[in-house]
Amino acid sequence: MRGSALAGTGHTAVVTGGSRGIGRAVVDRLRADGGRVVTCGRGARPDDLPGDVLWVQADVSDADDAARLLAEADRAFGPVSLLVNNAGVQVEKTVAESTDADWGLVVGANCRGTFHTCRAVLPVMTEHGGVIVNIGSISGNVADPSMALYNASKAFVHGLTRSIAVDHGPAVRCNAIQPGWIMTAMAEDAFALARDPEAARRDALARHPAGRFGEPADIAKAVSWLASDEARYVTGQFLTLDGGLTAAS
Ligand code: NDP
Repeated sequence: MRGSALAGTGHTAVVTGGSRGIGRAVVDRLRADGGRVVTCGRGARPDDLPGDVLWVQADVSDADDAARLLAEADRAFGPVSLLVNNAGVQVEKTVAESTDADWGLVVGANCRGTFHTCRAVLPVMTEHGGVIVNIGSISGNVADPSMALYNASKAFVHGLTRSIAVDHGPAVRCNAIQPGWIMTAMAEDAFALARDPEAARRDALARHPAGRFGEPADIAKAVSWLASDEARYVTGQFLTLDGGLTAAS
């Protein structure tokens, strides 16, 4: 059965980087919404991924892999009506410390990956309608210390989000979510690099008016809403989910 394009629920959805963390929570939420879900990562299919989720081993920094991901989703479930660009990596370095390998890794996953999947899906969405949700970051708007390439890569994601909304509406809606601290492997790794990880965690928490860090499910709920018809007048926008961190800065 070919998927319906702009349905509030039941999307044919591709979520990049669904092996763990935020991406996995998005996969679970879209399934609960009644969607047919395809996800990917660079490694093998995770053992705990539900059987009805199609896994495609793909590195989105590679254009051919990204095109194959979208093609396999279409073959399995029909026209992709929702793309969630979640795959991302973080390198904690200043510009002066960053190597060519760091540049390749961060720009590869965060920028090239987002571009590749959007380019692959836009002809389909232009014909059938669709929604793109890019996972940006508050780091795309503020200079998180020692995160130079990451900060710049997320600013790229935000810029691409606006351009897609402008160039491909009304068939396609495109928005970005800007998470703050969401407790995943990526966030834990960042704390682990601090001179005093426990003090860093305490200090960061104290700057959150919400009184807690975010959970992957907080982001997944927002993706679900942006993907739904409830958000049909929302495009080219940025939804900040950071527990008030940037409001308090
Ligand atoms: P994790 O490191 O926990 O998960 C990242 C996911 O992306 C994994 O499934 C990983 O799988 C996949 N991935 C990474 N590179 C590639 C690639 N080149 N091709 C395909 N898959 C890839 O990160 P989070 O869940 O924390 O982060 C998810 C997104 O949210 C990222 O874009 C991140 O920048 C953003 N974000 C996270 C915040 C946080 O506090 N956690 C804050 C703000 C934004 P594998 O390694 O197997 O390829």
